[in-house]
Amino acid sequence: MAKKANSSNHCSFCGRSEQEVNLLISGMTGYICDMCAEQAHEIVNDSFKGSEKTDIGISLSSLPKPAQIKEFLDQYVIKQDNAKRFLSVSVYNHYKRILQKNVKDEVEIEKSNIIMVGATGTGKTLLARTIAKMLHVPFTIVDATVLTEAGYVGEDIESILTRLLQVADYDVNAAERGIVFIDEIDKIARKSDNPSITRDVSGEGVQQGLLKLLEGSVVNVPPQGGRKHPEQRMIAVNTKNILFICGGAFDGIEKKIAQRLNTRVVGYAASNEKMNIDRDNLMKYITPLDLKSFGLIPEIIGRLPILTYLEPLDRDALLRILVEPKNSIIRQYQKLFEMDGVALSFEQDAYEYIVDKAIEFKLGARGLRSIVEAIMIDAMFTLPSEEKKKLLVTRKYATHQLENSDLHQLRVA
Ligand code: ADP
Repeated sequence: MAKKANSSNHCSFCGRSEQEVNLLISGMTGYICDMCAEQAHEIVNDSFKGSEKTDIGISLSSLPKPAQIKEFLDQYVIKQDNAKRFLSVSVYNHYKRILQKNVKDEVEIEKSNIIMVGATGTGKTLLARTIAKMLHVPFTIVDATVLTEAGYVGEDIESILTRLLQVADYDVNAAERGIVFIDEIDKIARKSDNPSITRDVSGEGVQQGLLKLLEGSVVNVPPQGGRKHPEQRMIAVNTKNILFICGGAFDGIEKKIAQRLNTRVVGYAASNEKMNIDRDNLMKYITPLDLKSFGLIPEIIGRLPILTYLEPLDRDALLRILVEPKNSIIRQYQKLFEMDGVALSFEQDAYEYIVDKAIEFKLGARGLRSIVEAIMIDAMFTLPSEEKKKLLVTRKYATHQLENSDLHQLRVA
């Protein structure tokens, strides 16, 4: 290892003597002064600039293609093909944009932030989390409901970037290429389509703040977040290359879509069009106009150019969710039992029962876990101390367990 040189030696690169430089470092056969070391460092940096590979360890050839990203999502998320395709392409383009930074070119690829609209429990967060699993860039999920305008109770908009900085281990460069999922974006919609004259603490003001981030600007971020540490030094983060994915249920937006479709259909007297409308899934006709009538300001909508939707989950989708995903609920329980040496299996009829109950209790996909938990709790309590090596859950067993559980009260509620 190099060590500090002594006596009157000379730099082997520039020939300066030890007296002429601040520091002379000795190597195996020669010396280098502080100035030459710095210059060498610059040369090394410059020579890597043009290369394809970035410091996040990806290259264009090693990037997963959109179809591969979707394939990965398919392993965990049932249906939602439309959202999966848009997400896959956006993430792929995000990487390309990052890589492009190293290539000197006139054409600058701009980012396309995404907004996903779909009823609660249809897989928006699951999609975001699953994408995060395969990413090599910092990723964070934030909830828009906690955001308020600066100076009000709640979190400032900048806190979104605090999270990103934290997951990037305070590496600003890495954070500036990250991806942020903002959940419940619909909760910051203003209450009516008309711009308000009174103050709207949690609505329009927050949207204006968010706009700054989406547009791309340099934001001073408190590294510890919140307002509890007024003494902390701010970190400047440029949001130009951060990809924002927003998600929201937009409860009631179907009504607005239906209204718009009806007006259009009646207005142009196109009766054929009316017949073709899929009334069970109005969400697929969503346009930016509907987001505006819901209360998002046009500037925000303009900064979320990719609009995609999630389909409602029908009985068949719920059945698949129960068993198909790589870490499906059933597989998780099987694994838990397996650790005690117990082989757990279910009758198809038991699956059907679980799904019917989730629909009856109006719990959707989220309810599947609570129902299976209620059915399995007794077995999970007793089996580890018993000799039994097998458990088959039949419809009869499932019905008995659920009917004797607290969860069953939900039906009355
Ligand atoms: P959202 O964010 O749309 O409200 P989530 O993604 O949080 O809904 O979904 C809640 C839970 O329901 C997930 O953790 C997952 O177990 C299940 N789930 C929802 N939609 C799907 C889907 N399309 N495929 C697989 N599981 C799903």
